[in-house]
Amino acid sequence: MNPLEAYGIHRFYRRGDTEIAALRDVSLTCAAGETVAVTGPSGSGKSTLLHLLAGLDDPDGGRIDVAGQRLSHQSPSRAARLRAAHIGVLTQSSGLLGHLSVQENVRFAASLGHARGPAPAELIDRLGLHAVRHSLPRTLSGGETARAGLAVALAGAPDVLLADEPTAEVSRDEETTILDLLTRWRPPGGTTVIVTHAAAVAEHADRVLHLVDGRLT
Ligand code: ADP
Ligand code: MG
Repeated sequence: MNPLEAYGIHRFYRRGDTEIAALRDVSLTCAAGETVAVTGPSGSGKSTLLHLLAGLDDPDGGRIDVAGQRLSHQSPSRAARLRAAHIGVLTQSSGLLGHLSVQENVRFAASLGHARGPAPAELIDRLGLHAVRHSLPRTLSGGETARAGLAVALAGAPDVLLADEPTAEVSRDEETTILDLLTRWRPPGGTTVIVTHAAAVAEHADRVLHLVDGRLT
């Protein structure tokens, strides 16, 4: 069983009278222990794909399975449960709950995920967040926000870790740190998918896929 499989995914958007094919017949299998980078220019469908793989949106055609269970076309509550149990999502908007401190955010995410996950305190220390653990997200720097988002994404020991341009807002040094941590902290049976237009990010992957006009080439 692969942690993540997508078969024949299509996603269309309508803008006025024009239909935009954001994704066309995209299939993807990610094996345990694998890091896959999906690259492509702006508008090629990367974020659309990531949202679908996270169960935050449903495809117009095709199917997505996570940890052997169908994720696509489930009820919102079932999709949310599958996401909490199996998927960590890292986006530029960080996914941190604004009214909770860094530590509370990590504990909350850990409580929803796998019991095998790292202890929240250890995660906070290893990601260099100890000094800001009681701070609210809005008071963090760009790099701290990125690392706190990573701590939350990793807290539940997800089978599938999904990252959308995770290093777009951070310095080059922080980019390297975050990419190293992304790979190092993945559970042994898990898989990581990073969508990015940055070539440096793709260098950290085992496999690089290219998305052009919604198709994998
Ligand atoms: P990327 O992340 O690679 O920049 P996106 O997945 O954001 O690409 O977008 C792919 C295409 O779908 C683009 O043409 C974009 O304009 C369009 N698109 C994305 N989201 C929407 C939406 N909610 N409504 C209409 N069009 C959208
Ligand atoms: Mg995008």
